[in-house]
Amino acid sequence: MARETVARAVIVWFRKDLRLDDNRALHAACASGRPVIPLYIREPGEDGTGPLGAAQAWWLHHSLHGLDATIRKHGGKLVLASGHARNVLADIIRRSGAEAIFWNRRYDPPGTAIDTRLRHELEKQAIEVRSFSGQLLHEPTILKTTSGTSYRVYGPFWRALEESGEPEAPVDPPQRFRFPQQFPASETLASWKLLPQKPDWAKSFPDMWTPGETAAHEKLRDFVENGLHGYSSDRDFPGKTATSLLSPHLAFGEISPARVWEATKGLSRRIPSDDLVRFRRELAWREFSYHLLFHFPELARANWNDSFDGFGWRKDEDGFHAWCNGQTGYPIVDAGMRQLWRHGWMHNRVRMITASFLVKDLLIDWRRGEAWFRDTLVDADPANNAAGWQWVAGSGADASPFFRIFNPVLQGEKFDAAGGYIRQFVPEIAKLEDRYIHRPFDAPESVLERAGIRLGETYPNPIVDHAMARRRALKVFNAIKDAA
Ligand SMILES: Cc1cc2nc3c(=O)[nH]c(=O)nc-3n(C[C@H](O)[C@H](O)[C@H](O)COP(=O)(O)OP(=O)(O)OC[C@H]3O[C@@H](n4cnc5c(N)ncnc54)[C@H](O)[C@@H]3O)c2cc1C
Repeated sequence: MARETVARAVIVWFRKDLRLDDNRALHAACASGRPVIPLYIREPGEDGTGPLGAAQAWWLHHSLHGLDATIRKHGGKLVLASGHARNVLADIIRRSGAEAIFWNRRYDPPGTAIDTRLRHELEKQAIEVRSFSGQLLHEPTILKTTSGTSYRVYGPFWRALEESGEPEAPVDPPQRFRFPQQFPASETLASWKLLPQKPDWAKSFPDMWTPGETAAHEKLRDFVENGLHGYSSDRDFPGKTATSLLSPHLAFGEISPARVWEATKGLSRRIPSDDLVRFRRELAWREFSYHLLFHFPELARANWNDSFDGFGWRKDEDGFHAWCNGQTGYPIVDAGMRQLWRHGWMHNRVRMITASFLVKDLLIDWRRGEAWFRDTLVDADPANNAAGWQWVAGSGADASPFFRIFNPVLQGEKFDAAGGYIRQFVPEIAKLEDRYIHRPFDAPESVLERAGIRLGETYPNPIVDHAMARRRALKVFNAIKDAA
């Protein structure tokens, strides 16, 4: 690869776009013919602890490792730096003589605030700043209701998205790269200590995940070939591998939504339209969540529906602890929470069931659940996670009504009838016969004995009685309704 002697480089600042494909900032930088400094900044989180949860730190380590390896194949390297972006960039610009910085836009509120300030400051110093689209199918400002406001309801949002035409086609990875003769000094990935040490709670993650752009594309190909057919009927069953598993790759931008959208085109002869449309509608939920977050930056912190501000949440540390550890005595809830521990991921149907259990059966504030998921999910996403929790809690823009309370036993029986999912993640009740697998507390003593279960010892009794919890939740809900 050609190496440039004149240090008039362009910094390409990678953020939630850890990819070469469909990366418009990188594409434009390479097309400019100037040497490119690929940069990743580990920015401190608002609370000073780091911007990512523990599971995502694991992912980030591997993803950055992969991105660096790919860039090295082209003759460059990924520069790593930590600190506030304005300080890091000032330092790198000073040391490299870079004259421009390109990035792909991000839409989380702290990120956009940083970028807006930075652009202003850098332009004052005559540094060229260019930002590009790529994290979403459409910019969150594009779709508007006929009265010019943002959407609050998913149905009309989806129709508007459908009618808005195809998203911009993805751009291929650059073919030609130029790199500076000397790169600014880089920190080492190992020094960031992103991987868990003792205990290594992520040791089962690789059974399910290979972070990185290459794996993301393989997963998309595999899903389109083998998974998309039947998606709409099978996607709700946690025991089947029927969804794309693209969420962490999308969360880190290892693949762009436009690339995923494009892969679903031209398949109508092979894939039933129900499956195609259903999958696109799920991608559109991601768009909708970002639309909400963009227009309501407090989405992860405040109730969208402020009548929930006076809601009588309980402080139940024992209950919260049991929920986090998959020890509630409700097998479908426990299986989900343990899947989260084992793989840093949970099936969508079970996210709804476990979230509903926390919020409605235990009456614990949805924000505690949101924070737990943020720390433990490899796909934790500021928009999808907050919108998902507000949807379940009933406090969101387009939400499931609070009075619709999932019964964890019936949900289990409906979506995991033979208990295959339960048996995978709650092995201590695996020998229980099918009719009791979702309700071990109803099983006769002889049945429990045959399955080797001693309730309260080898598997917990339910930490709350669902029928009582339901009545209690409705009472608290009615109190805020009456007060409104
Ligand atoms: C309480 C709760 C919390 C959630 N937290 C997150 C989160 O932090 N990150 C996250 O990516 N998703 C979150 N979701 C949405 C959903 O559970 C996951 O996107 C999905 O399970 C990912 O699996 P998949 O990639 O196989 O999905 P697929 O069914 O293959 O869907 C394809 C893609 O569409 C998007 N998508 C699918 N369903 C939804 C949805 N309901 N809302 C928004 N986008 C969706 C995702 O990007 C997903 O990768 C949450 C849902 C709930 C109920």
